[in-house]
Amino acid sequence: MPKTKSSAKKAVLFNRIAFIGIGHIGSSMALAIRCAGLAGSIIACDRSATARKTALKLKVVDEVTADIAKAVKNADLVVIATPVGTNGAIAKAMAPYLKPGAIVTDVGSVKQEVIAAVAPHIPKGVTFVPGHPLAGTEHSGPESGFAELFDGRWAVLTPLPRTPAKALAQVTALWKRIGAKVDTMKPDHHDMVLAITSHLPHLCAFTVVGTATDLAGDLKQEVIKYSASGFRDFTRVAASDPVMWRDIFLSNREAVLNILQRFTEDLAGMQKHIRRGDGEALEKIFTRTRAIRRSIIEAKQA
Ligand code: NAP
Repeated sequence: MPKTKSSAKKAVLFNRIAFIGIGHIGSSMALAIRCAGLAGSIIACDRSATARKTALKLKVVDEVTADIAKAVKNADLVVIATPVGTNGAIAKAMAPYLKPGAIVTDVGSVKQEVIAAVAPHIPKGVTFVPGHPLAGTEHSGPESGFAELFDGRWAVLTPLPRTPAKALAQVTALWKRIGAKVDTMKPDHHDMVLAITSHLPHLCAFTVVGTATDLAGDLKQEVIKYSASGFRDFTRVAASDPVMWRDIFLSNREAVLNILQRFTEDLAGMQKHIRRGDGEALEKIFTRTRAIRRSIIEAKQA
């Protein structure tokens, strides 16, 4: 059932929250924050006029602007929710206007490069708490946002050694109050874990669907017509936002290349088992992978 304002326990955590980028993740967070009554007011800054208009029309936020200075000026919490490649320039542009005592956080899918790009611009008296919700769909834009997106999902925070405990606790409280479970990690560990659990699977989906797209005429038509669940699932993942994923692979290059090396070796192993007709080896691998799926279902992350 969709969350409603009246059904939620309310206690304002931040008087004013500013979102830089009000797409899929920004709007989902804003809606969840509104439903839970966690902000006095919410303003969104987005470079897309359509996104601004939609966010206002759908009552995702109270105000919209294209002016980053206006957005952050009185904000107690600033959430950067744009593709990770833009985060450094955004931090630089908003830095002179940040309110003393404000907290800046982000939702970027890569942490080391985002921290390297953003942290140097954060002025004294303002705190940066890097974060990443492990939730999302293949859709983009504020029309795709929904307040329940984070329910029961993990939000990973990767605080810096100098991040004050109080700011970390405030951002943790925000995620918990919008339904997420919170974990903290070192940024490099986050990037390696996400390279395995998210970036590699997306790369496989982009490649499988790309291979099918390159097939000659008739065969390609049949792939679409008779698309079985395996291929269909890949197309859903491969429909994810191209700009967001371009930035993720470029920003998490080292961890992705590391895991890709391992994956290529394992794929070559599969090739060998199939060529040799080694059914026993294949069955052993598939039994192990089936068990992983079961543990994900048991952990309620399916
Ligand atoms: P999205 O739906 O495409 O929304 C991003 C919005 O930011 C767009 O309206 C975009 O406008 C705007 N934007 C881009 N550059 C900007 C700038 N310099 N200043 C102001 N606005 C700008 O993207 P999303 O899915 O919400 O992803 C946002 C972030 O969340 C990314 O860093 C991603 O890694 C992270 N994340 C995504 C997911 C997911 O599943 N989608 C999950 C977890 C984390 P234009 O359309 O004009 O570019």
